[in-house]
Amino acid sequence: MTTSKATLTKRILIALVLGIVFGVILNALGLTNFNAELSRYVLVPVGRIFTNGIMMLVVPLVLCSLICGAASIGDIKKLGRVGGKIITFYLVSTALAITIALIFASIIRPGIGTNLSAVGEAFETAKPPFIMDIFVNMIPRNPIAALANMEMLQIIFFAIIFGVGITLVGESAKPLLNTITQINEVLLKIIALVMLFAPFGVFALISNVIMNQGVSVLIPLLKYALTITAVLLIQVVVIYGGALKVLGKTSPIKFFKNFWPVMMVAFSTSSSGATIPVTLKTCEEKLGVSKSVASFTIPLGATMNMDGTAIMQGVATLFLAQLFGVEMTIQSMLMIVLTATLASIGTAGVPGAGMVMLSMVLLQVGISPEGIPIILSVDRILDMMRTAVNVTGDAVGTMIVARSEGELNSEVLEAPASVEM
Ligand code: ASP
Repeated sequence: MTTSKATLTKRILIALVLGIVFGVILNALGLTNFNAELSRYVLVPVGRIFTNGIMMLVVPLVLCSLICGAASIGDIKKLGRVGGKIITFYLVSTALAITIALIFASIIRPGIGTNLSAVGEAFETAKPPFIMDIFVNMIPRNPIAALANMEMLQIIFFAIIFGVGITLVGESAKPLLNTITQINEVLLKIIALVMLFAPFGVFALISNVIMNQGVSVLIPLLKYALTITAVLLIQVVVIYGGALKVLGKTSPIKFFKNFWPVMMVAFSTSSSGATIPVTLKTCEEKLGVSKSVASFTIPLGATMNMDGTAIMQGVATLFLAQLFGVEMTIQSMLMIVLTATLASIGTAGVPGAGMVMLSMVLLQVGISPEGIPIILSVDRILDMMRTAVNVTGDAVGTMIVARSEGELNSEVLEAPASVEM
């Protein structure tokens, strides 16, 4: 198993690199018809087979793993404590991320002197949801409909309450919990099977993006894209690295060594939701987090904790403000921190969702969402990067909470090679 795991991880990396090279070459050749057909008949279907394969597991896995997580934490007090800690971490890390984004965007001022004559495409501005609705609508009127429609916050709410119910019923609900735990294990095995296809999926997804978008689309918006990239890097290296070291008492290097395949899946799928199965499996089997903590905090994080998205929203808001000459006061900056935190909670873990929620932040500070199409042209690639950061934040928070609860087995982190993927 050891070798097959190592080769799978390597194969995914090779596929990523080859996909980028392949995409760049095809884009440069500019064979419009050929590229379109290749995309339609090969790259898109192969990419979809992979994303559908993992998406297929998301709803059952989130449901089962959260029920198990909530129920196996055992007592309600501990559940509340773990929940309180992880939600605090998620909120604080998001607010920090936006603050760094705002500082950088204020210093670099990417919106000043940018020539945008060549960019811009149509964008359907979705109406931002009413903030209170995010909380009220977490409670599903019909849990089955919530499952069928992939309403993640509703599924999370129902699963946690269900787990609490199992704990309260006690002994006689044990067989039910065992059954759900077994289903969970079966689902994790299926992920391992789906991941065998990952190299093909990753290759197809990345080469399709690069082939269609090219790198030239980045140029007018280079400063904007670079500002976001810089802040994403700082968030990963300084904030997550520091938090792991100080709060998690864990070596960041070892963490990233074991975690990067998850970042690659997030990168190529642009979806934290679709990455949940892989994140969960990695946290348990390669980072040494106990099942009860990971199965509770990871689905929650993938749904509500989006630091990368918040960074994009912070930089994008200032970028558009600079572009349109809108004055930003300290008050409006604080408003951005607040609304972008809420917006990132409300952002679904699917490709492009952060852009839609950006309109909510823009409206709060008096910038027209009409500006969104300007940055849309580069968003596909930035979405990939921020999704990788989003899922990393979930795992870092999970490690820290697990450490503080004595639910982290450091030996697994030290010797992950003995664990199968
Ligand atoms: N694609 C991101 C995610 O799934 C959300 C976003 O668009 O920012 O995490």
